[in-house]
Amino acid sequence: MPGRLEGKVAVVTAAAQGIGRATALTFAREGATVWATDINEVKLKELADTAGITTSRLDVTNQTDIEALADVVGAPDVLFNCAGYVAGGTILECTEEDWDFSFNINVKSLYRVIGTFLPLMIENGGGSIINMSSVASNISGVSNRFVYGTTKAAVTGLTKSIAKDFVGQGIRCNAICPATVDTPSLHDRINAQPDPEKAMQEFIARQPMGRMGKPEEIAYLAIYLASDESSYTTGTEQLIDGAMTL
Ligand code: NAD
Repeated sequence: MPGRLEGKVAVVTAAAQGIGRATALTFAREGATVWATDINEVKLKELADTAGITTSRLDVTNQTDIEALADVVGAPDVLFNCAGYVAGGTILECTEEDWDFSFNINVKSLYRVIGTFLPLMIENGGGSIINMSSVASNISGVSNRFVYGTTKAAVTGLTKSIAKDFVGQGIRCNAICPATVDTPSLHDRINAQPDPEKAMQEFIARQPMGRMGKPEEIAYLAIYLASDESSYTTGTEQLIDGAMTL
């Protein structure tokens, strides 16, 4: 049976670990030709060596990098913008530098990456853009996630705007909004707490399902949004949150 993404070309950002890596692997298993990109070249090489996926260094904050990738890839059918940074703290701890850093990687990167690939996708007859948001956004207030939640709310606005403007040109644009997902950076955040065991239990307790999400569970949703099975879906925020916001 052919894979659900057979014949499609997919670009994935932040694919060296976590949700991006799981998605690159599942996209490839579903038959897509995957371009897995990240700034972590060591982990990208592991991915290339173990899974045979094409990898490329891409810093989503660097326009020159993005244009160089577009020159090589051409028009993808699927563009999964996964790169993002989870900053902690309230407004009182957020400096202007922190604000600019988070907006640059979480929001301006989408302006750059989509702005570069979208004309190619339109010329190619369309495609699916998937943006990584979070329940910490316009959906829900989460403690100590001031600038993070603010940036992810902006991702929703950007997603809906693109969906609306290009709906007549074969472009779909949707956002994924997960609750806590078990990824390397989550463990870094937990280990940075004074009592990591307590912090782990608190992260788990946020979801009434009593556990964190697995990166693969987010990847399955990304497959749906990437595939033609979701051809009537655009401009949406897809909650995947273990009932956190129920
Ligand atoms: P992660 O944070 O563990 O890994 C992030 C990856 O991004 C790393 O491989 C890193 O090298 C790469 N990266 C960092 N800066 C980059 C840049 N400038 N250009 C390209 N790549 C860069 O991965 P994760 O936890 O799966 O998070 C991925 C996305 O999912 C983020 O947007 C995050 O906000 C979002 N998200 C995560 C969770 C969670 O609980 N883990 C929940 C909701 C949303």
